[in-house]
Amino acid sequence: MLSVREAETLLFDLVRPLDNQRDVEVVDLLNATGRILATPVASKLDFPHWDNSAMDGYAVRYEDVKTCSVDRPAILEIIEEIPAGTPPQKALKSGQAARILTGSMMPNGGDTVVMQENTQRDGNRVAISVPPKEAGDFVRHRGAFHPAGTTLIEAGVRLQPAEIAVLAAAQCSKVRVYRRLRVAVLSTGDELTTPDRPLQPGQIVDSNQYALTSFLLQLGIEPLRLGIVGDSPDELYEAISDAIDWGDAVLSTGGVSVGDYDYVEDVLEELGGTIHIRSIAVKPGKPLTVATVGKKNILYFGLPGNPVSALVGAWRFVKPVLQRMGGLSRGWEPVFVDAVTTSPLKSDGKRETYLWGRLSLNNGNYEFAVASGSHSSGNLINLVQTNGLAVLPVGTTPIAAGERVSVLQIMGNG
Ligand code: AMP
Ligand code: MG
Repeated sequence: MLSVREAETLLFDLVRPLDNQRDVEVVDLLNATGRILATPVASKLDFPHWDNSAMDGYAVRYEDVKTCSVDRPAILEIIEEIPAGTPPQKALKSGQAARILTGSMMPNGGDTVVMQENTQRDGNRVAISVPPKEAGDFVRHRGAFHPAGTTLIEAGVRLQPAEIAVLAAAQCSKVRVYRRLRVAVLSTGDELTTPDRPLQPGQIVDSNQYALTSFLLQLGIEPLRLGIVGDSPDELYEAISDAIDWGDAVLSTGGVSVGDYDYVEDVLEELGGTIHIRSIAVKPGKPLTVATVGKKNILYFGLPGNPVSALVGAWRFVKPVLQRMGGLSRGWEPVFVDAVTTSPLKSDGKRETYLWGRLSLNNGNYEFAVASGSHSSGNLINLVQTNGLAVLPVGTTPIAAGERVSVLQIMGNG
């Protein structure tokens, strides 16, 4: 049995990210939210595109106003008004100013802006009584934010509102992004049925198919739902063969413990796969199979059948791997935050234990409230509203209320 750290290292080494030549597509910018940039974008434009004013006020020549004061204001002739969107028509000569508004282009000859609050207008003259701190005050110079020809956004970045806005400003209306990953999902178990059928004695609803499909959709991944596969090696062989033909990765649940009907590992080996991980010293979710299989050597995750174990395994181990595979170059790693637990947390200390609950901010500090009710891995119900997993390392048994605990942030649930 591997420790969490050993398993993670092994797992991250197995990741083969999408190819930045073959696995790409070009999409309209407005459809690119959440997608991952496959090629760096260099700007054709300077930001800002021309010298412009950062204030409402007057464009002036620094030399004309640098020594002005309340007692000896500089009196300048206003030669024009430059509203935003209209280029200046005249060049400033000594003794002249132009009325200018925020974002307007600087006139030739002008090098500094004096803010309106430090001026007094009288007809076509303006008196300036407070000298600028230095030449160039309140002027945003061409290229000062970002010069043309240099990289604006690196490859491997997820496009969120700020990146989309920057690309729009740089006039990139189409972007080259990684294609969506395709991941197959299958549930093994003769006891499983779908939510739309009346439950027969002994049956349970295949909630894992829904949990994992939803998990994939949240990550922007295209799921292929292969449904329920009975506990028979033949059925499993067929389903896993389909899954590895189609997908970049496969997630299955059930059939990976040591029970009489647990065939997943046998079938993977029969298909020529290599099993890298069989179990991890983690609770819940100890039986977790990781293999590479098929011509494309795709990653196979055999998650435990218990609904909580399956989701905890997905959040803890599968999510970072799929994010990295999908092209994300940074920010794919799990995120742990330091929190104070509001109630005592317990484990047997033998395996790294995750207790699910809710992380919230209280007076600027993170607090963790463990979910009430049973923390049995079969109890799916109190996962509702969970947004964090408190981590109790091996050897840690109790953590008292008010003490600090590291909490894995999981997506969703606000
Ligand atoms: P297994 O890992 O196949 O031994 O399953 C462990 C437990 O999880 C059993 O109680 C199963 O009934 C339950 N289980 C297995 N698969 C699913 C599933 N797809 N959805 C909900 N519960 C499941
Ligand atoms: Mg089973």
